[in-house]
Amino acid sequence: MRRAVCPGSFDPLHNGHLEIIARASNLFDEIIVAVSTNPAKTYRFSIDERLQMARETLSALRGITIEAMGEGLLADFCRRHGADAIVKGVRTSADLAFEVPMATMNRHLTGVETVFLAADPGYAHLSSSLLKEVGSLGGDISGFVPRSVYRRMTAPPPGRA
Ligand code: ADP
Repeated sequence: MRRAVCPGSFDPLHNGHLEIIARASNLFDEIIVAVSTNPAKTYRFSIDERLQMARETLSALRGITIEAMGEGLLADFCRRHGADAIVKGVRTSADLAFEVPMATMNRHLTGVETVFLAADPGYAHLSSSLLKEVGSLGGDISGFVPRSVYRRMTAPPPGRA
């Protein structure tokens, strides 16, 4: 049984993430989508909302589970969950330059390998931050995010319903 972790903050989940998770699930028997929170960052969506959007989108798929990563190292999360590998999507050479030292560190820490999947050109322009910006300025992001994310991105602020 080969198990891999797809980590990210998923603030919010978008179709580029989904494409990588789907391809990862063709390579491994089990995928854990690990939703991370970095205390140094501010998020548009709470950890509960990010988990809920991932669950609404993915939990019907066989072999995929969604978990909060919690505090601590990704390498330790992988060891605790018996994961053989981390899967990361790579959009650009800048992504790779950022990811390679982390991949090497994670391997040195617990032996977990990182598998890089090249982003499909149809999705390589997608990032959570760009989608939040376009959405906040009224752009149509419906083709780039799953339905549960679109619903929350376009919901009126509380009190204005
Ligand atoms: P971060 O954890 O840096 O906030 P994200 O949560 O946005 O990053 O992304 C999680 C993972 O998904 C990262 O491995 C990132 O490289 C990958 N990823 C993000 N956007 C895309 C995309 N459009 N295509 C492929 N992979 C992507």
